[in-house]
Amino acid sequence: MVLKTLPFDREFIEKLAEHYPTPFYIYDEKTLRRNARLFTESFSWNSGFKEFFAVKANPNPELLKILRTEFLGGDCSSLPELLLCERIGMSGEEIMFTSNNTPAMEFVKAKQLGAIINLDDLTHLEFLEHCAGLPDLISFRWNPGTLREVESVIGNPVEAKYGLTTEQIFEGFSLAKRKGVRRLGLHTMVASNMLQDEFFCYTAKTVFELVREIERRIGVRIEFVNLGGGFGVAYRPEQIPLDMKRVAEMIHEEYDKLILPSNLAPLKIFTESGRLIAAESGTLITRVIHEKNTYKHYIGVDACMANLMRPGMYGAYHHITVLGKPEGSGGKIETVDVVGSLCENCDKFAVNRELPKIEIGDILAIHDAGAHGYAMGFQYNGKLRCAELLLQENGLVRMIRRAETPDDYFATLNLT
Ligand SMILES: *Cc1c(COP(=O)(O)O)cnc(C)c1O
Repeated sequence: MVLKTLPFDREFIEKLAEHYPTPFYIYDEKTLRRNARLFTESFSWNSGFKEFFAVKANPNPELLKILRTEFLGGDCSSLPELLLCERIGMSGEEIMFTSNNTPAMEFVKAKQLGAIINLDDLTHLEFLEHCAGLPDLISFRWNPGTLREVESVIGNPVEAKYGLTTEQIFEGFSLAKRKGVRRLGLHTMVASNMLQDEFFCYTAKTVFELVREIERRIGVRIEFVNLGGGFGVAYRPEQIPLDMKRVAEMIHEEYDKLILPSNLAPLKIFTESGRLIAAESGTLITRVIHEKNTYKHYIGVDACMANLMRPGMYGAYHHITVLGKPEGSGGKIETVDVVGSLCENCDKFAVNRELPKIEIGDILAIHDAGAHGYAMGFQYNGKLRCAELLLQENGLVRMIRRAETPDDYFATLNLT
């Protein structure tokens, strides 16, 4: 069991709630920086290593700015995400553009920023050439198709819409070479929230083998491999966290076995983690407003699925702490469903969860919500997105996004 801790207590949050009504997100700068450093330090053996934070996991510009000071880049897949990176001062090869089914204007913007463009299909090479002109550096996203080792854990990549087949990869690099593209990269991402370290090692190994094969078959030398994201978070206390140091060491061993002897070094290694960088740093704070006893015992909170969709959408587990009532303190335990106010029965943060006895007015902290949390928010049912706060390293709290108001809900309308 890993004890789920929080960088604040009930008193601290009650003080904050006087200024910022619940629900709100609070991010811990220390934790965010620690997880960013985990990547850069673990891969320090690879001189060209860079982690491009997947902006979709948390598009708050203040967090992106912090990550940038830790030398992380940004991984984008839409025009607004590109604009966000531009707005915080990123440019050129600090930005990775890993999109799919991409509209022309997004390629145009990515090219204008000098971002690394990662193509999801063979036909996109000519599409990009036509709409924006070919850059000097191009990357292709590889879908390895049937990989027995992969299939057993994450499902069949053949069913995934992303990437080029292995044969298309060779064709793509040949074509790019013929068109005069001088610098080339290879991307693959076959994991999602994966906690097994051997899995990433296996992925790196197959990618390194492909890099060798590309060189052998078409005489093209690959400058970087991008291993994508999918590094898992131990959302449940009983789960064993991914050991990134070990993952990086295992990949190092494969690199020394496959890349060094083939004279293919230096080969830069890139990652695009979102979850492992940001999840742990973010907590959704919500207050209990109702208690209901029918066929089940419900705890009603002032946040809902619009603030954090993962439990409702995927049945994902998020640990919950009742502030001021620590686990294992010997008090009464009850089995409850923690629910929001959306008119959808899946709007539940927890089902049949054992929690210390809760009273109306209690504050719940929903853990590990910093990635794919606020970011997936929506306005369905007239539910508005909440504020985001940053607990800075110096202990002070700053609002980094205000809560939406009904005016925001009406902002796209022309009601007279
Ligand atoms: C979503 C996504 C990521 C980030 O995934 P995490 O699970 O947050 O690490 C990285 N790259 C691409 C292309 C993605 O779509």
